[in-house]
Amino acid sequence: MVWYHRVSFFSINKLNDCNKVQKDPVPHDTKMNVIYKIKCNDCDATYIGQTKRKLITRVNEHRNHIRRNTSSKSVITDHRLDYNHEFDWNNVDILDCESFCHKRLISEMLYIKTQSNGLTASSLGCQCRVIAPVHLFSFSLLLERKGRKMN
Ligand SMILES: [Zn+2]
Repeated sequence: MVWYHRVSFFSINKLNDCNKVQKDPVPHDTKMNVIYKIKCNDCDATYIGQTKRKLITRVNEHRNHIRRNTSSKSVITDHRLDYNHEFDWNNVDILDCESFCHKRLISEMLYIKTQSNGLTASSLGCQCRVIAPVHLFSFSLLLERKGRKMN
């Protein structure tokens, strides 16, 4: 599918940016402005989310969220309770890093689309989420134009 080809093209560029910006090695857990993937230890389910804060802060929130029916719903908690599965908290993948909120949300959405058995994301906190669809639309137009030029 053409769309997926473009997604991977976009992602590779983003990862290069990511490496360029961080000259000094930053400990994995303390990286900020990242799109991350948490994997289930017991099946092939994955969760993709994004955070502007330190990765470890967000991961610990997921990890410590153990009760259902709280004000903040968690698909990870639902998966842990429904299947009695546990997630691989110590091996969270960083898929991308992006300091601009709307770009981070677009990147998150693109990665979510590539998941084979993804838990539906419900990442909390970012105010930009409401305007993200507009950016996604303009971004897809940009990709269309790039695609036409390349052809
Ligand atoms: Zn599982």
